[in-house]
Amino acid sequence: MVQCSKCTSDAVTFIRYSGNHLCASHFKEFVERRVKKELRSQVDLDVVKEIAVAVSGGKDSCVALSIINDIIGSRKDVNIRCITVDEGIAGYRPESIEKVRVLCNSLDIEHVVVSFKDVIGVDMDEIADLIGQRTPCAYCGVFRRRCMNKAAREMGAQALATGHNLDDTSQAVLMNFTRGDVERLARMGPHIRAQPGLIPRIAPLRQIPEKEVYLYAILQDIDFVDAKCPYWEAALRNEYRDIIDNIESRTPGSRHSIVASYDALRPLLREKFPQSVLRICECGEPAPTGKCMSCTMIREISNRKSIEKYP
Ligand code: SF4
Ligand SMILES: [Zn+2]
Ligand SMILES: [Zn+2]
Repeated sequence: MVQCSKCTSDAVTFIRYSGNHLCASHFKEFVERRVKKELRSQVDLDVVKEIAVAVSGGKDSCVALSIINDIIGSRKDVNIRCITVDEGIAGYRPESIEKVRVLCNSLDIEHVVVSFKDVIGVDMDEIADLIGQRTPCAYCGVFRRRCMNKAAREMGAQALATGHNLDDTSQAVLMNFTRGDVERLARMGPHIRAQPGLIPRIAPLRQIPEKEVYLYAILQDIDFVDAKCPYWEAALRNEYRDIIDNIESRTPGSRHSIVASYDALRPLLREKFPQSVLRICECGEPAPTGKCMSCTMIREISNRKSIEKYP
């Protein structure tokens, strides 16, 4: 058995980009130290007293909730609450909602479930049937953001934490660069400025590789759902995942470099593309034009629904 680079215990993992073998306890410390640093750099806890954590039941968001609770759960002046979006995906989402409920109970954290059906009137399985060849995730992402923001706003949250890890973040950076969507790059979280109606999103795990999040969940005995969403295959992001995995395996540390480069460029991007003043859409969500993407998509889906009904 290989020995930990920091002590005499057996190592449980090898961190390629740092060259260290780590035992369970040094690995835990390694993960938590970086999450703590990120959390403190993204959120001013002298000001932010209500934090909502979006938890789907997957490893990333369950770990995010657990570590955030470890870091600030004992503070009497900060309240943590959990939001789960129920997209209405049969055979997938009900099990994960139950896992989140159990996790929240064990941490004594309030758990709020917000469903597509209640907020937009249709569930994801219905949407997938109606959109033909289009990618379900494109719709799901927009509706999820609306549900999360609405629930966070209604509970008075000042920050909304998500479980996005280093892999997600580097993929999003590369994807926006490749598409030439520089404005979207400028708007990527973590958000520094609160906009009326829009709860700033934070991502405390954005420096932690996905595999480390997985190992952390296993070692800490955090129960999560490992199943993939039935619509996952269609996600365009998977192409970027493969590209980044390839680069990382040849040059360890590449994901960190992509995110560090983005962070260095971000102030310039935000200067060039300042946040537009948001107007409130008829649904109550903020949008630059006053008409949000979610309402546009709902209208499109309703049209398809009526075409199907009356061919
Ligand atoms: S994989 Fe796509 S459809 Fe499934 S939950 Fe995620 S965003 Fe929604
Ligand atoms: Zn050790
Ligand atoms: Zn709207």
